[in-house]
Amino acid sequence: MKTLDQQQAAAHALEALCGGAVASEALVHVVYGPGASARPMPEVVIVPSGFFADEMYGTPASLPAPPLGQIEGTPLLFGSPRVERLTGPGGFPRLIVHADIVASAFFLLTRFEEVLRREVRDEHGRFTGRESLPFRAGFLHRPIVDEYGALLRQWLREVGVEMAEPPAEIRKVYLTHDLDEPWAWPNFRMAVKSTLRNFRRRPAALLEPLFSHWGWTEGRDPNDCFSWILAQDATLRDALGARRVEPVFFFRAGGDDPKDGYDYLRNRRTKNLIRKIRDAGAGIGLHSSYSAGIDPGRIAAEKARLSEVSGCPCRFNRHHFLAAREPEDLNALETAGFTDDFTMGYADRPGFRLGTSRAVRWFDPVALRPSNVTLHPLTIMECTLDGEKYMHLDFEEARAACFALLGEVRKHNGEAVLLWHNTALSEQAAASGSYQRRLYLEVLDHLKGAL
Ligand SMILES: [Zn+2]
Repeated sequence: MKTLDQQQAAAHALEALCGGAVASEALVHVVYGPGASARPMPEVVIVPSGFFADEMYGTPASLPAPPLGQIEGTPLLFGSPRVERLTGPGGFPRLIVHADIVASAFFLLTRFEEVLRREVRDEHGRFTGRESLPFRAGFLHRPIVDEYGALLRQWLREVGVEMAEPPAEIRKVYLTHDLDEPWAWPNFRMAVKSTLRNFRRRPAALLEPLFSHWGWTEGRDPNDCFSWILAQDATLRDALGARRVEPVFFFRAGGDDPKDGYDYLRNRRTKNLIRKIRDAGAGIGLHSSYSAGIDPGRIAAEKARLSEVSGCPCRFNRHHFLAAREPEDLNALETAGFTDDFTMGYADRPGFRLGTSRAVRWFDPVALRPSNVTLHPLTIMECTLDGEKYMHLDFEEARAACFALLGEVRKHNGEAVLLWHNTALSEQAAASGSYQRRLYLEVLDHLKGAL
């Protein structure tokens, strides 16, 4: 390693591997370099594979190609599984590990391949799960950075450093809901259209759309199941405590692409809803628009608008369509004053896009600098499971996939970030055959019993 920046990059990966309070104490005993130090103390030496070398860093040659090697059953992106056991100065044990778990973790935590393979994007400009190395190599469903962390703790213990294992419990659950279409009758024109349709089908409910549009009646709009969502989310919070369960509703506040839909923020019902969500102790975040995914320069204005309407600082973000197109878009979030992002999952496949189940600070692999934005890995988005274009799973398969992913999160003391849209949780969706309302309840019950 030649430059300070690259040392900082490796330190970032190591910190993420050890995680939390353990890091500073344990890292004294970890060397990332070609050989052991002369210090009379136990050491685990991780030998660099050359990933960070000037002639290799950021070149196509630095992309690993499946089939990958393994270290104790965990896929290894760089280095070899060889581990040497030696005795160092003062008779202290030394482990020389040739598995470059530091570069491997860095590669995953920074979404390095998405930076290098810019030509690989879907019709929405997104890097897809199917194209990702974790999927192609068969480990997207495993947070292998967390597995590396467990290996490192095991090696440290082997040389005599006391290392506690984190508890096998989910440390935090974010119950998140993106408001793409909070209302079926968002404006006068659509309300009149529905009123006319009702006139033919259900005369008794003739004026519901208009009354609902004007905010005179609550809960009649087919998309309006927010009281139900808040009540369900509250049951988990009551069971596990407010510290460990945080419901967050992401509101769109701009965008002029057709995929951004209608502007609902001005609607009186929306303002009432924001008040209701805040009164229930749930959070408000920005659902950055599809347009802002294309032009990240719009993000700051959207944040300012939502903050003004909601009266919240709005430091949480998630991109509509999960369409943060380039890793550098995260820099735009930081500039706009966001502290936390919840976009990091693949729309087409559930799993661990960042290789970890834990919140991790975004590190820019191009500028080689840490940021102030914390990334929260998106564990499950409901439409990934049943979407025809995505996995198209039936109820049992979807439930098994959810429980398996949550099991991984639990094993590694990670965070579970769930995304269920209001449109998937409505009674109308259930009546038209969607299993998502039932699945959501089962996932919440599972979390109540499994934490
Ligand atoms: Zn959305």
